[in-house]
Amino acid sequence: MLFGKHVNKFYKKYFWFFFLGIVALIVIDYFQLMIPEIFGDLIDATEDGSIFNNLNILNNAVMWIGIIAIIMFCGRFTWRYCIFGVGVRIEADMRDMMFLHSEELSYNYYKKHKTGVLMALYTNDLQTIRAFFGQGTVMLIDFIFLGSIALIKMFILNWILTLIVLIPAVAIAVASFFLGNKMEEKFSIRQKAYEDLSDFAQENFTGINVIKAFVKEKEEMEAFNEVNKDNYDKNMDFLRYYMLLNVAITLVLNLIVAVIFAGGVYSIGADYNFSVGNLTEYVSYFNTLTWPMMAIGQLINLRSQAKASLGRVSKLLDELPEITDNKEIINSQINGKIEFKHLNFQYADADTPILNDISFVINKGQMVGILGKTGSGKSTLVDLLLRMYNVEENELFLDDVDIMNLPFKQVRENIGYVPQDNFLFSDTIRNNIAFAFNNDISDEDIINSASMADVHDNIKEFQEGYQTILGERGVTLSGGQKQRVSIARALIKNPPIMIFDDSVSAVDTKTEEKILTNLRKLRKGKTTIMVSHRISTVKDLDLIILLDEGKIVGIGNHNTLMKSSNLYQEMVKLQTLEKEVND
Ligand code: ATP
Ligand code: MG
Repeated sequence: MLFGKHVNKFYKKYFWFFFLGIVALIVIDYFQLMIPEIFGDLIDATEDGSIFNNLNILNNAVMWIGIIAIIMFCGRFTWRYCIFGVGVRIEADMRDMMFLHSEELSYNYYKKHKTGVLMALYTNDLQTIRAFFGQGTVMLIDFIFLGSIALIKMFILNWILTLIVLIPAVAIAVASFFLGNKMEEKFSIRQKAYEDLSDFAQENFTGINVIKAFVKEKEEMEAFNEVNKDNYDKNMDFLRYYMLLNVAITLVLNLIVAVIFAGGVYSIGADYNFSVGNLTEYVSYFNTLTWPMMAIGQLINLRSQAKASLGRVSKLLDELPEITDNKEIINSQINGKIEFKHLNFQYADADTPILNDISFVINKGQMVGILGKTGSGKSTLVDLLLRMYNVEENELFLDDVDIMNLPFKQVRENIGYVPQDNFLFSDTIRNNIAFAFNNDISDEDIINSASMADVHDNIKEFQEGYQTILGERGVTLSGGQKQRVSIARALIKNPPIMIFDDSVSAVDTKTEEKILTNLRKLRKGKTTIMVSHRISTVKDLDLIILLDEGKIVGIGNHNTLMKSSNLYQEMVKLQTLEKEVND
């Protein structure tokens, strides 16, 4: 049995499945052990000739075997359906619980935990838990019932022989525990080698263009050879051990059967009330007993693995979301005024602050640029507006309400966001653009926002148009197209505040101009923030905030900054020069 606050409820929820499955299993265990007795009697009746005088003995035996076969069929079906079904149901329930919880966890959690490690929780760990509730339950019940009924029947038939046989039998159970542990270890090593191999291959295929461009095919092949050889070695090691173990156990079991035959024949000869039929019956019981003997060792191992897996899964389920609503939340409307008051921000695992003493006000309806070199803290600043991280109280206000007192989901719902990495889902272009609306939106709106983002003409040219599937199984968009689909996805919401994080960096200046003109029309009266390191994106905006190394070093419009900020002048000079070279 496996207990823990995340699994206890399943015993209640699936009580009837457990109950029915276990009852069916016990019934099967009982009837299964009637067959050797019937065979034993038949052999004895054949030996003393009574079967030839009374055919009823044969008829009865056949009838009973038929009945038992039907019971076994129904019982097997029932227990497999119920017990294995419980395993699968618990796995599915837990996966749902985990996913639901994962979605609540903050952005920071995903930055700290590798996707591969998280995926392992959903695959390997859940499989172990499923196996414990499925196979594990069968092992436990079979050990208790099949094992003890077989043993009792053996004792009744010949207790002296049973005592002799029991010694190596218990040894096998103990060995199967220790060797099973060792085998599990070797299995994990093999699994790890396989994961390395598949990671290597996957990364290689993903980065194939880099490998080709750097003419690194030969080196990669050699590296692959090494990983593949390692995988081969670990596999062979596991296989060798597994074979040896299998052969050794079979050998010991056969030796025990030989001992049984010797002891049995001696018992028959010594007239210990032990017949030939009894001997075959006894051997059958012993053969049946081998499974529960090995099962108990496996069960102990399986339980310790399942416990470890449950521990890892529980750690995820117990992880508290970093971003939660304050006790006293204020449900005020968000209209678009933003104010930073001496805000400082430092990432949890960093030693220096990323943003220092940030103060500025953006009024409702303004179109504002946040300009700065790479690494100056622009994305960090807009992430704070989306409440991706917690900030100190009294440092960041939306419509004069402290962001920490607003429900964080309300904040995000009122902000349109075009992320810097422009992540798109492997889905149709239409569904990507309609993401905010669960697809509950008209074609006209979709086309409209795609036109505003200046990507409609591109989409039209695809054979499948808006139904074109993106991603691994579909079309790969260019960097600029991706940016514009991502802009369309955010624009369609047209919320009070919109943030574009470097969203026009991959389009040419002409397209940029078009998009900016469209935005000015569409966003009239609403707050818009354009993050950029390009002067052309921000120079016509109402306000430009110039960031450098996490500090505001200039604030104003293009003309005032040209006069007041050396850095701004330098950037303008440099970028004009660049433009001239490119043109
Ligand atoms: P770019 O123009 O290249 O997008 P940026 O101005 O958006 O740059 P940020 O992404 O805000 O810059 O990063 C600012 C600084 O914060 C960088 O030095 C970066 O290394 C650091 N940083 C970003 N995210 C984290 C994090 N999760 N933990 C620690 N440091 C971080
Ligand atoms: Mg950035």
